[in-house]
Amino acid sequence: MKEEIDWSNLSFGYIPTDYNVRCTYRDGKWGEIEVSDSPYINLHIAATSLHYGQEIFEGLKAFRGKDGKVRVFRMIENARRIINSAKGLLMAPVTEELFCEMVEKAVRLNARFIPPYGSGASLYIRPLEIGISPSVGVRASTEYTFIILVTPVGPYFKSGFKPTNICIMRQYDRVAPKGTGRFKTGGNYAASLVAGEHAHELGYASVLYLDPKEKKYLDECGPANFFAIKDGVYITPASESILPSVTNRSLMQLARDMGIEVQERHITVDELSEVQEAAACGTAAVASPVGEIDDLDTGHKYVIASNGEAGPVTTALYNKLRAVQLGEELDVHGWNTVIEGI
Ligand SMILES: *Cc1c(COP(=O)(O)O)cnc(C)c1O
Repeated sequence: MKEEIDWSNLSFGYIPTDYNVRCTYRDGKWGEIEVSDSPYINLHIAATSLHYGQEIFEGLKAFRGKDGKVRVFRMIENARRIINSAKGLLMAPVTEELFCEMVEKAVRLNARFIPPYGSGASLYIRPLEIGISPSVGVRASTEYTFIILVTPVGPYFKSGFKPTNICIMRQYDRVAPKGTGRFKTGGNYAASLVAGEHAHELGYASVLYLDPKEKKYLDECGPANFFAIKDGVYITPASESILPSVTNRSLMQLARDMGIEVQERHITVDELSEVQEAAACGTAAVASPVGEIDDLDTGHKYVIASNGEAGPVTTALYNKLRAVQLGEELDVHGWNTVIEGI
């Protein structure tokens, strides 16, 4: 160690690590995997990623488990999703094999940055792909760079697994009805920053978006999926403008394993008055419980967690998923990839 890292107090930011791995697509094929110790890229000023937003990314984590082994959670699902995002933005898709090989390499090369078991921290893995060929005309790039960087991130819930409040604001959409919402592309995030900032200024953790076509159904929750527990049933919005969250899908499976019914369907705003628990879910937090949902247009306040505590189903699902990631529980679905020898 060059310097000691205070694992439990890391933020979700960027701490420099030793290496990143890169691969370039040129002449119709992906080249050799390269290892770099520089956090910079040398990019043409007319690269399509800079001008026309040809950029896609992923986010996944590696954990040091109870048994000392390092596990990457559901890497193949992230590989499939970035391939789907590439097709959605007319970019060259990586292969599942290349993606997985590069994730493993990036984790191995930066093994000293994998936080210890018990710290609550993890190694965040960020794959990204950008169009690099120069063009001032609007067209897809013919050349791409795929990069994987890693950085340690601290525990999401520093002051406990407590509910936060979110709001509905109809003046903002994150994406268009048949737009890029189901692809993980930077443009969707750029389009959500103003709404997010507005919500923060008003004291909310995030915006609960409504479907961009009819503004009738719940959609994405900030940069996360949304689920609720209604009379013992796990309900989550079905929408073509939502990014299919690996965490949400994992929680749905764990819910079914616990004998909880799962419904992926339209959820109206009114229905929020009938739910007992709600949460945002994604890799960063697993599940972030919701206390109150304020509809800023109607003035209606949906109080979900009236006692200020996360509900029992959300808590059980959160604990179960964390336990699988940390090797504390049997990985019955084969979600973890163990990286041997580090
Ligand atoms: C990444 C992301 C999520 C969460 O997906 P996970 O695979 O669970 O991390 C949800 N919504 C949006 C918009 C995202 O970009």
